[in-house]
Amino acid sequence: MSKRDYYEVLGLDKNASQAEIKKAYRRLAMKYHPDKTKNDKEAENKFKEASEAYEVLSDKDKRQKYDQYGHAGLEGAFGGGGFSWENFTHASDFSDIFGDSGFGSIFEHLFGAGFGGAGRRSQQSNRGEDLQISLSLTLEEIAKGVEKKIKINVQDTCKACNGTGSADGKVATCDQCRGSGRVKQTTRSLFGHMQTVVECPSCHGSGKIIKNKCPQCHGEGRIKHVKTVTISIPAGVSEGQYIRMRGQGNVGPNQGAKGDILVHIREKEHEIFERNEADLICEFPISFSQAALGTEIKVPTLSGKVKMKIPAGTQSGKVFRLRAQGLPHVNSSYHGDLYVKMRVITPTRLRSEEKQLFQELAKFDSEKKLQPGKSILGKIKDFFY
Ligand SMILES: [Zn+2]
Ligand SMILES: [Zn+2]
Repeated sequence: MSKRDYYEVLGLDKNASQAEIKKAYRRLAMKYHPDKTKNDKEAENKFKEASEAYEVLSDKDKRQKYDQYGHAGLEGAFGGGGFSWENFTHASDFSDIFGDSGFGSIFEHLFGAGFGGAGRRSQQSNRGEDLQISLSLTLEEIAKGVEKKIKINVQDTCKACNGTGSADGKVATCDQCRGSGRVKQTTRSLFGHMQTVVECPSCHGSGKIIKNKCPQCHGEGRIKHVKTVTISIPAGVSEGQYIRMRGQGNVGPNQGAKGDILVHIREKEHEIFERNEADLICEFPISFSQAALGTEIKVPTLSGKVKMKIPAGTQSGKVFRLRAQGLPHVNSSYHGDLYVKMRVITPTRLRSEEKQLFQELAKFDSEKKLQPGKSILGKIKDFFY
């Protein structure tokens, strides 16, 4: 049987992009995956065929040879017997290809531990850790945006050895992995012997061996110290959001890349305002006479007090809206509103003069019919939520 064209196998044309190639392979691998098509020889062969096509077309060099000379261009690329699973070098692509579908772990199960994430992990194995901190902000700070200086314990390059981890400056290349930090491991699997790449056990992925370790950092090349970082918080952030400060976290061991700092935003409770996204809500007490006759009040906002007219006959529970007196949205000029809910205060300890006046007023009560109705509280709730 003659060999099928790789593009045909993946159902692609010759100009397919890397993303299209990956997508096509993913689709076929899902379809013919041995875990789904148990003991189906034909499906297994199709899976292998697609994997071979993917092996070639995802590699710039191999693809070029194939485009130019066809299958003949790859003679010898996979050893005498043609493509076998040992030639499949894209183990570490699987978590990419299969995402969260769970297939990555199935492959891991099929081909042995270390499959999938191994290549990726060891590539980044000496990247420094991310650090997490939380930052409590007042609504006033959130309204305007704020810059905060924070002291944090970070791992930084050891000055005594300049991050090499060596007391005498001598760093030898690891013999076992020849400095790559990774070694090939052969495991048995369903499809015969599989080669996977794992972190080198003798240098733990660093690729280097230090005989005379720096006494300050014990050979790690990094040391803890207190660093002050300045964090710029944009206006409008809210509880639960976080800001990533790239390259501000721990430096990796032996001159590895720096991790990040993740600043988690917390919101301090405000004594006057409640927050509903970008809107603010507060309650404002007014007296009987203010409510009956109308008045002008000074309403607190996050940027000082503003005057507001209260019309005559205002009921307790009435809500007034002050436009754009709420919080800003992040990266936008749009502001939320401030809702001010009136609360008419019933006086409790009356002086005799006041009592007399209320008794005078009470004479008119019998003339006004008061009707029961829907609770104002209920209406307010409907209004906001
Ligand atoms: Zn090594
Ligand atoms: Zn050191």
